[in-house]
Formats: sequence, C-alpha cells, structure tokens
Amino acid sequence: MKLVVRAKLLPTPVQAAALEATLYACNEAATWAAQAAFEKDARRPLGLRKHTYAEIKERWGLGAQAAQHAIKRACDAYSTLKANLRGGRYGRPGSKRYTRTSGKPVVFRPEAAQPYDDRMLSWQHQTRTVSIWTTAGRLKGVAFTGQAEQLAVLADHRQGESDLVRQGGNWFLIATCEIPEKTLNAHPVGFVGVDLGIVNIAATSDGERYSGRRINRKRENDRAVRSKLQKRGSKSAKRRAKKYAGKEARRNKDINHKISKRIVAEAERTGRGIALEELTGIRERARLRKPQRTTLHSWPFAQLGSFIAYKAKKAGVPVIHVDAAYTSQECSQCHHTARSNRPSQARFACKVCGFVEHADHNSSHNIAHRGWMSWVRGARSTAPALTLTA
Ligand SMILES: [Zn+2]
Repeated sequence: MKLVVRAKLLPTPVQAAALEATLYACNEAATWAAQAAFEKDARRPLGLRKHTYAEIKERWGLGAQAAQHAIKRACDAYSTLKANLRGGRYGRPGSKRYTRTSGKPVVFRPEAAQPYDDRMLSWQHQTRTVSIWTTAGRLKGVAFTGQAEQLAVLADHRQGESDLVRQGGNWFLIATCEIPEKTLNAHPVGFVGVDLGIVNIAATSDGERYSGRRINRKRENDRAVRSKLQKRGSKSAKRRAKKYAGKEARRNKDINHKISKRIVAEAERTGRGIALEELTGIRERARLRKPQRTTLHSWPFAQLGSFIAYKAKKAGVPVIHVDAAYTSQECSQCHHTARSNRPSQARFACKVCGFVEHADHNSSHNIAHRGWMSWVRGARSTAPALTLTA
C-alpha cells in the first residue's frame, strides 16, 4: 500500500536561500515551457524538448534532469487540463469558463512543488541528511527530521520521486513509500466494534475503554491559554499560541497512533475484522452540552478512524464502515431501540429486556453486529489509502 511521508528539512540560511532560488527557477522554467507548448502546440515531451531544452538549461541554469522535469511538468499539466476539460470541470465546450481556461497557457505558482528523482536527490538515513541538487550546485549534508516511525518507513520503503515544497516558511520533502501489506483475512471469525466518542475516545466491543478525561482536561487548559495569548495580539503571543496548537496536534496524533495500534493488534491476533462507524454519523447523532461541542468538533475523530483503517489494511484485517444511526439507543441484546434506553451519558438500560451495560460498550456491540451483518451480506473491506504527515 502507498503511504506518503513528509520529512522536514532543516537547512542553514545559506542552504535555504539556495533551495528558494531553485524552486523559483524551476517553476519559472516550467511556466515558460508551458507557454512554448501552448504557442507551438507541442504538448508532448519529445516535441516540446526540441523547442525548449537548451534554452531552459541556459537561461535558468537548470541541470539536465531539472530541465527534463520542467518540460514534463508542462506536458503533464496539459494532459490534466485536457482530462478536466473533457470531464466537464470547466463547463461545456463553448462556455465562457471553458474557453477562458483552454485559451491560455498553463502557469505554475512560484512555490509549486518541484519533483526530485534519485539523480537529483539522495538520502543518507544514518546521518539524517540529504544531498540535493540546486541551481547553486549540489547541497550536501542538508539535515532533515520527522517522527521516528515515519523515518523508518522512509528509510525502508521509499519509491520514486520526492517533491520539494515550502509550507508556512518551512521546507519539506514529500516522499511516496510502498509498504508491503499482509493478505487480507478473507474469513474473519467476527468483528470488533469500535465506538468513538468524547468521554471515552474509543470503546470496543471487547470491553476496552480509552478514557478521554485527561486529554480533554489538558485540551481545555491549552485552549484557554491559547485564546488568552491570541487576545493579547502581540507577535510573540501569537507565536506562542501557534506553538501550543502544534503541541496539541502532536499529542492527539500520538494518542491516536497508540489506540489504533492496540485495537488493530487485538483484531489481528484473534482473526477478526474491525467495524467502525461512518464518520459523518458521529456529529449528527451527538447531542451535547455547549462546552462539549467545541471538543467534539475539534477532536480528530477522522484521524483515529483513518489510523485504524490504515493499520488494519497493513495487517490484512478487514475493515467495515457501518451506518451508526441509533447505535447508542439500540439494545445490543434484544435490539429494542428507544431514547429512554439511555438514562444517562454513561448508562444503557433496556426498557424491554432489562439488559444493563456501559452505554459506549452497548454501542460498540451494535457496531460490531452491524459490521458482521454487512460482511456476511457481501460487503468488502473499505480501508482507504492514507497520507501520513510528520
Ligand atoms: Zn433489550
């Protein structure tokens, strides 16, 4: 399976200046090549090379590989545009938008991502540095960093080109990795149901509960500090507020990695699949007091769901997404469904059969059951592809 890993570069000021000059030069050259392709109606690499290759090398000081990339990017942009025009993304042929879009050359942003192949970029994982081509010559020993788990993936499974990008003043290399995955378990003996929430971040039908109390308290704390800093409005206060936001995101991600790892390991060990609720359902069914609402909308549920799905795919564990409507009101024993089955946030007590259970576990049993039913009826594993960023 494909995984995208983002490594953060730590260039010295001199190296950063060289990267910036290179990115600008490459995008200018690509824009110029796209213009030539448009004027000369040469939108295939072979034809366009004749008109542009020598001049790109000369004018922008690009090496052979970089010049080829500029030409290829121009051609690829026209293929994409053609497909989009055909697909109706710019309206019908003859419409204003269609004519405007198809009637002018493609332009690249000055900071658009620049592809690097293995001849322009090499990775030294032991020293955590790269050697990278720039218009000012080859830069050696440019340091990079990232999360340990992702750097390991990068070292073992990187494939093909990487993209150089600048985001928010930082430099990154975005690399595609191809990770071997185990064959899908085609005969799961059952499903682990996972209920996602606020009080408990996740509750499984195996009776595992991951409490959100400590995190939520910390989150509220951080949020209060941040809003205070933002109100102050000074530059340093804003910078500190940003730092807090980054810290919170990293902590959440870390927690999500740990929870997903445990849930998937347990499903794999016991030969079962995993049933998750469709994420759209979480917000709709949640009725919450106001202070909890911000917590709900900002909690990265989608992230936990996608981490579980990604790790499951890697482990060959089938994943089913189920419609979670009324799972919190339905009795997992007799399937009687009523709001009155739920006397409090934490408690489930069936009005018909008298079944009593922690509310989140009752929900997770329903999710497990729905996952199993949907699998039996022929649903396929629905683990999506995932982008992991450091
Ligand atoms: Zn019941």
